[in-house]
Amino acid sequence: MPSYKAPVADTMFLLTDVFDLQRYENLPRFAEAPIDVVEAVLSEGGKLAEEVLQPLNLPGDQEGCKRLPDGSVVTPKGFKEAYKAYVEGGWVGISGSPTYGGQGLPHFVSVAINEYALGANLAFTMYPGLTKGATDALLAHGDEALKSRFLPKMTTGEWTGTMNLTESHCGTDLGLLKTRALRQDDGSYAISGQKIFISSGEHDLSENIIHLVLARIEGAPAGVKGISLFLVPKILVNDDGSLAERNKVSCGSIEHKMGIHGNSTCVMNYDSAKGWLVGEANRGLNAMFVMMNSARLDVAVQGLAQSEAAYQNAAAYAKERLQGRSLTGAKEPGKPADPILVHPDVRRMLLEIRAFNEAARALMIWAALSLDEAHESPNAAARQTADDRLGLLTPVLKGMFTDVGFANAVKAQQVLGGHGYVSEWGMEQFVRDARITMIYEGANGIQALDLVGRKLPKDGGRAATALFAEISDFLGQNKDDSALAPYLAPAKTALDQLRQATKWLVENTKLNPENVGAASTDYLHLFGLTALAFMWARMAKAVLARQAAGTSTPELDAKLALAKFFGDRMLPQAGAHLAKLTSGAETLMALPAEAF
Ligand SMILES: Cc1cc2nc3c(=O)[nH]c(=O)nc-3n(C[C@H](O)[C@H](O)[C@H](O)COP(=O)(O)OP(=O)(O)OC[C@H]3O[C@@H](n4cnc5c(N)ncnc54)[C@H](O)[C@@H]3O)c2cc1C
Repeated sequence: MPSYKAPVADTMFLLTDVFDLQRYENLPRFAEAPIDVVEAVLSEGGKLAEEVLQPLNLPGDQEGCKRLPDGSVVTPKGFKEAYKAYVEGGWVGISGSPTYGGQGLPHFVSVAINEYALGANLAFTMYPGLTKGATDALLAHGDEALKSRFLPKMTTGEWTGTMNLTESHCGTDLGLLKTRALRQDDGSYAISGQKIFISSGEHDLSENIIHLVLARIEGAPAGVKGISLFLVPKILVNDDGSLAERNKVSCGSIEHKMGIHGNSTCVMNYDSAKGWLVGEANRGLNAMFVMMNSARLDVAVQGLAQSEAAYQNAAAYAKERLQGRSLTGAKEPGKPADPILVHPDVRRMLLEIRAFNEAARALMIWAALSLDEAHESPNAAARQTADDRLGLLTPVLKGMFTDVGFANAVKAQQVLGGHGYVSEWGMEQFVRDARITMIYEGANGIQALDLVGRKLPKDGGRAATALFAEISDFLGQNKDDSALAPYLAPAKTALDQLRQATKWLVENTKLNPENVGAASTDYLHLFGLTALAFMWARMAKAVLARQAAGTSTPELDAKLALAKFFGDRMLPQAGAHLAKLTSGAETLMALPAEAF
């Protein structure tokens, strides 16, 4: 059976030593979150993940969800009780708006806890995760009547939420969507159409499910300019908040799929279902983007979380499994063989995963703190900078964390050899579960296009210019610190390469628009590696400061070793990305379609 331990101590190190949480004390939500409270909340969240959610992960995968003939869906044994505990513990609304019953803690708390819950049980945690995204969209774009009727129970998680974009002929290209909305005399809309692949579309965890649905109002323009967003409850709700009759929305079937078996993936049929417009007509994508951005960060964390869970199990196995002898002579001569951890190639796999995980966690926390700053800073310029940074980092985190998260789950599986391939050890589940994260919430190719095509040129490149300057300033300010030098040099090289790549993009986009698409995925990974190198440089500085103050622990030594490993053995990949992307679109587009 696999196990999982929430990395609370690592999160706390980031908050106290790297990002200096006290710096954020002027933000209103942080008044309720002094460091000791944060630590207590994270520890409790970690306990819930380890003790309640993780034991359900493997059996939930084996049992899966079932659709009954009446269209209802039953989640795996234990999910219902776990969800009740999740809601009663206040975890769904931990960072939710206090106006609607949320606890109002900073967003980074919710993101950190989300990592633990997702590491313990990805399929389960999607139910509250989507609910939070739907709540955010409604909070930003719903009118007061909708908010007061739906938000109190969605914020606490008593009612869950979904996002309905995809149709059978319409995935990435939302301009193709056909679901219709017909205005009714009472101001509501009758929604008709079919959505596919809807996560958590039907289940038995909550008494009501609130669907956010993209549809086209009769007579609306074609393409993305004619899409509106609607709130469609599974069960209609009276003005006083009590439940009324069943709405005309039903689950036609559930998918049989590669992973996340404990999460229902539903075909949803809307047969003149009653819905209400959220935000302005024909501006539905704008409103849905609030949910999509929230979900993209959530999916990024899914990638990291699977990588962490897979790492922990592979590392434990490598310490126990006896095969072969160390190349420098037996390390455990009393045993028939040495543990496989003595072999450099096994260490390579484990260290590549861990050096990614720890820097990715830092980047995730930095992005989450940016979210708090963007919402709450009293200073308009600081809000703008944080919002720019978050917007720029969102596709990088989603694309890189999930590409690497999946690759890391495979690496961790490799550490177990054949035992990684069979179900009993749980490693193949991490691989299967991690695979979807690269596909949904905008397939990773689309994240890369979003980065190079939208986020980079936006506002004359303001966000990227500011981020590059932030990294450059850090490197400049610390350039005379000889102890830190080995950790800064690789980050400087990567930043130079990223700047070259950015310049190349600016110059070569004009020459051939396909250069952008051809460069996009390599650019995203080069960007991500540079950001991780910046995180390692900042973590190394924090460790050296602690050590200079007299603290010496194996954990601090390990951080420095990982920082060095990252610079020596992982960051060189940045140069390969630069070489590939600057080769342009020509070789990609050379073959005619008939040659494929
Ligand atoms: C388990 C599961 C859960 C899901 N949950 C939800 C959900 O809750 N709600 C929801 O609305 N949807 C959901 N989806 C749908 C998911 O978001 C889509 O599958 C995804 O957006 C891709 O759409 P598609 O499958 O139609 O692929 P397509 O759009 O057909 O794309 C196929 C491939 O072509 C690439 N591609 C397409 N266009 C371009 C382009 N212009 N440039 C470069 N590459 C391109 C894509 O990156 C992809 O690799 C889920 C899917 C699955 C499998």
